[in-house]
Amino acid sequence: MQTSARSICLFCGSRTGSNPAYAEGARELGSQVAARGHRLVYGAGDRGLMGEAARAAQTAGGAVTGVIPKHLVDMEVGKKDLDDYVVVETMHERKMLMFQRSDAVVTLPGGPGTLDELIEVLTWRQLGLHSRPVVLINVAGYWDPLLTLLDHSISHGFADASFRDYLTDVADAVSAIDHIEEVLAAR
Ligand code: AMP
Repeated sequence: MQTSARSICLFCGSRTGSNPAYAEGARELGSQVAARGHRLVYGAGDRGLMGEAARAAQTAGGAVTGVIPKHLVDMEVGKKDLDDYVVVETMHERKMLMFQRSDAVVTLPGGPGTLDELIEVLTWRQLGLHSRPVVLINVAGYWDPLLTLLDHSISHGFADASFRDYLTDVADAVSAIDHIEEVLAAR
């Protein structure tokens, strides 16, 4: 089913991690976003899973927006050949702009930065600040401990059970995009 073109925000590692499945998952996400006519919005890095996903989207002929703060341009090797490359002042501006320019959020494996980004959009959702679909691609079970931690927060009374409904976990990119298209088409 071809739906309207959407902008899909990706949070993922600036490293590739220890399992080659993570990079494979990132390439699959990039190529699927492009093949299905959507725009990838991400942190504009050329390294790690970020670079893998962006290159795959470009190779598949897709449109890619990258947003990077000035001070990370060198550290994360800013990917300046994107069709939409935006340099901002701060990390907060980056996260906000990536979010504002997107219709949905997808998270792949990543480190502390990825966790920060994912948890922040979930807390924004909890506060009623948006209703965008937020999808976790649990490549090779990488995010199992996070899912356990979220359930732990709920069972210990630090979050409502509904918090868990704000995050849809799937196994791969195709399922992630299917979910996003379905949710957005129903609105
Ligand atoms: P990581 O998952 O740690 O590799 O980081 C992934 C992305 O998140 C990179 O683009 C980082 O620049 C970004 N990032 C790292 N630390 C933070 C942070 N404290 N707040 C927001 N973003 C971050």
